[in-house]
Amino acid sequence: MTTQSVVIVGGGIAGLAAAFELTESAPEIHVTVLEASGVVGGALQTSVLDGRTVDLGADGFLATRDEALTLVRDAGWSDDLVPIGASGAWIYLRHGLEVLPTGLVLGVPTRWSQLRQLRGLSRRARWGFLRDRFFPRRLSIGDDASIGEILRGKFGRALVDELIEPMIGGIQAGRVDDLSAATVFPALHAAARRGGSLQRALRPTPSATPTPPAPLFYSLRDGLGSLPRRLDTLLRSRGVDIRTEHHVTGLTRGTTRRWAVATANTITEADAVIMTTPAFVTGELLGHLEPALRELTSIPRATTAMVTFVVNRDAVPLPSRGTGFLVPLHTPFRDGESMVITAGTMLDRKWTYLSDNETAVVRIHVGRSDDNRAAILSDEALVERVREELAVIFGSWPATPDVIVQRWPAALPQYLVGHADLVRRAHDAAEKHYIWLAGMAYDGVGVPATIGSGRRAGRTVAATLS
Ligand SMILES: Cc1cc2nc3c(=O)[nH]c(=O)nc-3n(C[C@H](O)[C@H](O)[C@H](O)COP(=O)(O)OP(=O)(O)OC[C@H]3O[C@@H](n4cnc5c(N)ncnc54)[C@H](O)[C@@H]3O)c2cc1C
Repeated sequence: MTTQSVVIVGGGIAGLAAAFELTESAPEIHVTVLEASGVVGGALQTSVLDGRTVDLGADGFLATRDEALTLVRDAGWSDDLVPIGASGAWIYLRHGLEVLPTGLVLGVPTRWSQLRQLRGLSRRARWGFLRDRFFPRRLSIGDDASIGEILRGKFGRALVDELIEPMIGGIQAGRVDDLSAATVFPALHAAARRGGSLQRALRPTPSATPTPPAPLFYSLRDGLGSLPRRLDTLLRSRGVDIRTEHHVTGLTRGTTRRWAVATANTITEADAVIMTTPAFVTGELLGHLEPALRELTSIPRATTAMVTFVVNRDAVPLPSRGTGFLVPLHTPFRDGESMVITAGTMLDRKWTYLSDNETAVVRIHVGRSDDNRAAILSDEALVERVREELAVIFGSWPATPDVIVQRWPAALPQYLVGHADLVRRAHDAAEKHYIWLAGMAYDGVGVPATIGSGRRAGRTVAATLS
C-alpha cells in the first residue's frame, strides 16, 4: 500500500499544530509543511533586545481554553511553562491613569462598585450603566448582531467608548460596531437575546465551593515565540518535511494523488491538504473551486504594530503594579488628533524572566481596523510619535537606543456579523475536496483557539485517510 501524503500550507502555529496532531494520530502518513517565509511561527516570533529574548507577536496565552496548555504538555514541555508574573491593569481616562476595576466581563462592568472608583469616567457613562440596571432597554437581537449594537443599545455610547471598547476591541484590533457578538462574545449575545439588564445577566454567579485561583495566562521560558521553533525541531525528528521559503501559488488536480500543490519551483502531490494560510490567501488560492471559498477573501484584516522599549526604571514613572494599560478610542493627543496608542504592556512585570533591577521592558500597541495612521509612518517617525504620546500619559518618556518596531500588516482577521455562517459554508465547501481549513480566521483569534483548530483539522484528516 502506498503511503498517504498530506500537505499543510502555512507554517504558523495552526499548521504546526496540525502536523503535530497528524504525527500523533497517524504516524504512517507523510506530512509536508510549506511555509512562504524564511521561518516557521507566523505571528509567534521573538527577537533579542538588550540581551533579552522578547516576543514580537503573541506573548502569552489564556488558560481558560485548554488547547495550548494541552499541546505543551503533550509535547513534554510542561516544565518550561511560565505563569504570568503579576495581575491588574490601568486605563487612561481624562488625563490620568486609573486602576482598571477587577471582575469586568470582557470589559463589561457588572457592578456599580466597579465604576464608583473610576474618577475619570464621564457622568454620561455612569448614567448609561444605571439605566441598564434599573430601566433595561429591550433590544430585538437575531442570530447575530454587532457587539456595539448590543452594548450601545443597553449602556449608551459613553460607557462603551470610555471603558468597554478598549478591552474588547483590543482583542482583534477591531471596532465593537463591526465585530460579531455571536462569535467574539457569545455570552453577550445570549444575554441580549434573553432580555433584561445586561449587567445582571453577565454577572458571574458566586461559586458554592471556591477553588484556589490558578494562573490565567502562560508563556514559555524563552518566550512564546519559542513554541514554533520547538515544534519545528520535534516535527522534523518525527519525519515531517518542513520547507520554508516555499510560497504556495496554486492548487490543481494531481497526477498520482488528489492534489498538486505548487510553489514557484516545486510541485508536491497530496491525498489531502490542510490550509492554514491567512483567510484571504486561502480564498485566493481556492476561490476557483467554490464561491464559498472565494468568500474568504472578504474577511477584513487589521494592521497593527508594536513598539518595544527598554528604558531605565528611574527615568519613567510607570505605575507601581499591574501588567499594562489601555488607551480608549478618541483619547486626545494634540491639535485635534487622537492617540495612535491603543494599549501598553509592562512586559518584564508580566514575564519575570525578562526583569532585572534597573530597566523596564514596555511594549506599546498601535493600530486598529479603522486606524492605519501608524502604517504610513516610518519606523523612526512611529517611535517618535509613540514617545510623544507616552510623555503625555506619563509626564516624560526618555529616548533610548533599545527599541524594536514590529509591523503586523493585515494580520488580524475581523469576525464581522455573520462570520460563523461564512466559516461554516467555507468548511463545508472545502471538505468536499479533501481540503481542511485551520487558523485564526475560523474558530477564534488567539493561540489556544488556533492550536485547537489546527489539531482538529489534523485529527479529521488522520481519521479520513486512515
Ligand atoms: C500582533 C499580534 C499579537 C497577538 N497576540 C496574541 C496574544 O498575546 N495571545 C494570543 O493568544 N494570541 C495572540 N495573537 C493571535 C495569535 O498570534 C494567532 O491566533 C496565531 O498565532 C495565528 O496562527 P495561524 O497559524 O493561524 O496564522 P499565522 O501566524 O498568520 O500563520 C500563517 C502562516 O502562513 C504563511 N503563509 C502565508 N501565505 C502563504 C503561502 N502562499 N504559502 C505558504 N505559506 C504562506 C505565513 O507566512 C504564516 O507563517 C496575536 C496576533 C497578532 C498578529
